[in-house]
Amino acid sequence: MPKGQSSIKHRVRAVILLVSIVVLLITATLFVAYEVISFRAQLVQNLSTLAAVIADNIAAPLAFNSEETAEEILSALKAEPDIVAASVFDREGNVFAKYPLQSQTHLLPAQLENAGLRFTADALVVFQPVIKEKKSIGTLYLRASLQGLYGRFWRYGAIGGAVLIGSLAVAFVLSTLLQKRISDPILALTSAAQKVSQAGDYSVRAPKLTEDELGTLTDAVNRMLAETQANQSRLAEQARLLNLTFDAILVRDAHNRITYWNRGAEELYGFTQEEALGKVSHELLRTEFPDSLEQIEEKLHRDNRWLGESVQTRKDGGKIHVASRWTLDRDAQGKQASTLEINTDITERKAFQAGLERLVAERTAKLQETVTELEAFSYSVSHDMRAPLRAMQGYAKALLKDYEDKLDSQAAHYLERISRASNRLDSLIQDVLAYSRVAKGEITLHPVDLERLIQDILPNHPEFQPPQACLLMEKPLHLVLGHEACLTQCVTNLLGNAVKFVPSGVVPQIRVRTELLDGRVRVWFEDNGIGIDTLHHDRIFEIFGQVHPEKKYGGTGIGLAIVRKAVQRMGGEVGVESEIGQGSRFWFILNEAKT
Ligand code: ADP
Repeated sequence: MPKGQSSIKHRVRAVILLVSIVVLLITATLFVAYEVISFRAQLVQNLSTLAAVIADNIAAPLAFNSEETAEEILSALKAEPDIVAASVFDREGNVFAKYPLQSQTHLLPAQLENAGLRFTADALVVFQPVIKEKKSIGTLYLRASLQGLYGRFWRYGAIGGAVLIGSLAVAFVLSTLLQKRISDPILALTSAAQKVSQAGDYSVRAPKLTEDELGTLTDAVNRMLAETQANQSRLAEQARLLNLTFDAILVRDAHNRITYWNRGAEELYGFTQEEALGKVSHELLRTEFPDSLEQIEEKLHRDNRWLGESVQTRKDGGKIHVASRWTLDRDAQGKQASTLEINTDITERKAFQAGLERLVAERTAKLQETVTELEAFSYSVSHDMRAPLRAMQGYAKALLKDYEDKLDSQAAHYLERISRASNRLDSLIQDVLAYSRVAKGEITLHPVDLERLIQDILPNHPEFQPPQACLLMEKPLHLVLGHEACLTQCVTNLLGNAVKFVPSGVVPQIRVRTELLDGRVRVWFEDNGIGIDTLHHDRIFEIFGQVHPEKKYGGTGIGLAIVRKAVQRMGGEVGVESEIGQGSRFWFILNEAKT
């Protein structure tokens, strides 16, 4: 029998016995005390009465000095077994008569004492005055033995002891029977609890043996066991489901030690649950994180989650790429309790991606090569085309001038058209060359002062100035980081468009201003022209993205494509805000140049 079981039984029994003993002892003590007190009181009463009667009877013999009569009266004390000695003293204190006649002197007082009763160690003594005609003529001494009192005392003691032993025997039997009512339900509960804790078997139930509080306790414990059993089977079911996934699922404590390791993790890494539990996860898997672990943990604590890709090492030494999802679980105080980590093997995807990236890089390089070749080709073709074109333009002009009077109107008209077409082709070639220069030339960025740049452009472009147009610079214009030649090309094209696309008869008004945007500068070119439908805002930046009739406004449709290419090469962006009939506000953004 386990130690706990014997202890509760013995304790219950000991409590019952102890209570019985205490009750019996108190009862016996009170009873004996009461008996002793009442016996003493009765003794005092009897002795007083007896002393009074004998003193009264002995007065005459004492007065008449009749010693014999006095001793006769005293001898009547034989009827009182408790009276062990008596004597009569005369007025002078001499012993006049005594009882029994051969009484030992130690039982009689050595001298006369004051009247009254008093207890000695083994007797009750009384000194009673003998009165004759209201005068004291002597003293009666009586000595009653306390043997009777002690005898009673010991008898009661013996009876009390016997009753105590008898009662204890009965109490022992009863307590043995009764303690079962208390200890058995507790022992049943204890045994159930032991089975649960030792075997982890929550199907155990404690038998309900009573209908009292212990019965209620048993019911409550059984209910708790049933709930725990239900929770356990739910958890087991969830764990079973977690084991079905191909993903590796692990849970780590606050010190990154693994506390849960599913079958997916066993399969992915090759470490069994026994091998993994308790190990520091990133040490076991030799994880190579995309950032430092401190940075990742900082993010995890800030956002409660972290997503990222890492490289880990399997048990067999093979490296794998995983997509990791970490979720932080906090306790009631908000501290990190554990981290749930789900890892998906993306090694194949990574290899495929790397292959794809290689392929894309190879093709991009080839494409770039082709583009460069094409650009070089178009540049040289354009460049080479200009010489014969100039010849065509020159000779058409010469014909018109030198043979003016020999040509009929029809021939002059044809020559006019040849001249216009060759001029347009020249513009096209110049724009293609400009585009090629912007696209392929070396670009190094420097601080550029736009005010000065525009001032430099103006002398070559009277069309940007009064009376043909009105250009307003909202000073100061911020310094930008740009390439002087590219910027000159951009500004010239934008100003050219601003003066070109205006309704006839309207003097172009252009406002140039800059705006600071957190380390970047936006340069605005606002005009009062015909405006552009929002539908075409993207198209106009493409090569040949004309939206207005070329015949009316001229142009090649390459100007804004050059602007966009140049701005992109300077690390910036371009855009426009415009509505038909509302003017246009073109802008480009470049980095601000710090002075
Ligand atoms: P183009 O040589 O025709 O000016 P761009 O590439 O410079 O070629 O411009 C493309 C088209 O965008 C123009 O043909 C015109 O339709 C429109 N556009 C450009 N700038 C303006 C402007 N300031 N106002 C109205 N339309 C414009």
